[in-house]
Amino acid sequence: MTSETKICGARTKYGVCLEPPVEGKTRCRLHGGLSTGAKTAEGRKRISEANTALWAERNRLIELARSLEATAS
Ligand SMILES: [Zn+2]
Repeated sequence: MTSETKICGARTKYGVCLEPPVEGKTRCRLHGGLSTGAKTAEGRKRISEANTALWAERNRLIELARSLEATAS
């Protein structure tokens, strides 16, 4: 991510966030551009779901790598 980036770029389960960043920040208001953090239940739920999806994908890739290693040997 460069300073020229004009999108938030935060990872979501749908891809990267295409929202413009908050002025002076690198993230949009939904992804940490504001300093207040998630205060609503909806906001917390969104973060929780985003983290869950991220870890699910990471674990899937780890499992894939392990299966490939097993096949290679
Ligand atoms: Zn965003």
